[in-house]
Amino acid sequence: MIKKINSNNKINRNFKLTALLTALTITSSFPSIAEIISKEQVISDITYLAGDDLKGRASFSTEIDQAANFLAQRFADIGLQPLKATTTTKNPALFLQKFTVNQIKSKTLSVTLNGQEINPDHLAIATTIEKLNWQQGNAKTHIVGANDDMRKTLTQLNQSGGQHLVIINSKHEKAFNAYQGYFNRGLTKLSLQHRGAIVMVLSDESELETYTVKASAEITEQSLTNVVAVLPGTERADEIVLYSSHYDHLGMTEDGKKIYNGADDDASGTTAILNLAQYYADKGSNKRTLMFSAFTAEEIGGFGSKYFSQQLDPDDVVAMINIEMIGKPSKFGAGTVWMTGMERSNLGALLNEKLVALDTQIYQDPYPEQGLFYRSDNATLARLGVPAHSFSSTQLDKDQHYHQTSDDISSLDLTSMHKVIESLATATQSLVDGTVTPTRIDKEQVRAQGKIY
Ligand SMILES: [Zn+2]
Repeated sequence: MIKKINSNNKINRNFKLTALLTALTITSSFPSIAEIISKEQVISDITYLAGDDLKGRASFSTEIDQAANFLAQRFADIGLQPLKATTTTKNPALFLQKFTVNQIKSKTLSVTLNGQEINPDHLAIATTIEKLNWQQGNAKTHIVGANDDMRKTLTQLNQSGGQHLVIINSKHEKAFNAYQGYFNRGLTKLSLQHRGAIVMVLSDESELETYTVKASAEITEQSLTNVVAVLPGTERADEIVLYSSHYDHLGMTEDGKKIYNGADDDASGTTAILNLAQYYADKGSNKRTLMFSAFTAEEIGGFGSKYFSQQLDPDDVVAMINIEMIGKPSKFGAGTVWMTGMERSNLGALLNEKLVALDTQIYQDPYPEQGLFYRSDNATLARLGVPAHSFSSTQLDKDQHYHQTSDDISSLDLTSMHKVIESLATATQSLVDGTVTPTRIDKEQVRAQGKIY
């Protein structure tokens, strides 16, 4: 703890110099230094969110509720409005957007193929149906041969939904084990509208004459909470600029000994939206309505953003600035940021117009092979046509702390992070003013989500 305080003090001093240098290069149309986002507040917020007391903010934990209460209190103190209200309130509970998800755990599973009982180690199941009793003809059957693409077959079945028995050649054993491990942890679904099941059998059987499948699963409801706040627009209040992050993380190691603090992922982005909220509330001149949403359950499948997206008309959302992992310098340098899916809308180009005066820019995602556009909450809103992108500075290809217990505050560069928040405030000013409107994302070009797992 002492070491952290020391390093923070040092960062404060460094920041003053950086801020001064930045201020010298900006023109009068940009915020004066007095309006610049408070460094002390940024450090205070991230220190709380990434602190050991919150035990890694795992979905369904009591500590994530503590984090939610903290965020709600901050929104109330800033003087924002809850989503479905028309006045400001000091009651933090009104900023909590509560909902339930279904957790599905497989209980029993037995399979026979051509009269032979299959070793349970060679079985895997993803199901949203409580009881399965398949015999010849109840399910669609598929055989993935030694040279077939197992992952592609499973993805297709998942996207089509329904009930499937898949025989997988033992050449795919490694990949099969990975899926088995994933499915064994259970599924979480926001809705049980599309009930379906995939039963996987590791077997070299190439002809399927008869089969039986018996399976049972237990479904329980669990509650989750987003934290959402609104700063109403002065002129174009029905047009929303959404700033978001996710405040959940991975919790603790299985032995309960170490904490996944998730300082970068994504206490950094959550700190950003708090301080952007503060900044715009202090300014009080936003013509469009600004919405700030800290999503839950991103790490376990993006359920917070899914639920959130159903609580408003996505056509009203002009842009989504989803802030994910901005705690360390990007490969383009300290204080710089890049965005996912830049080619899918002209949002990046519009934001960059504002950054010319700061002699910086928002860069294109340098890791397209990682599929990051789909790996955060922006994808959910993008599927609905919103110009929804994630803004990040992580060097994901070599970040030693990503999803490790070492992703704690000491691994961050808070000066760089602070600069990113300021850049995002400057970059999004014309969105806030209502002087620019980005093109929509073509939803046909955004890959659908699976129906079963
Ligand atoms: Zn993560």
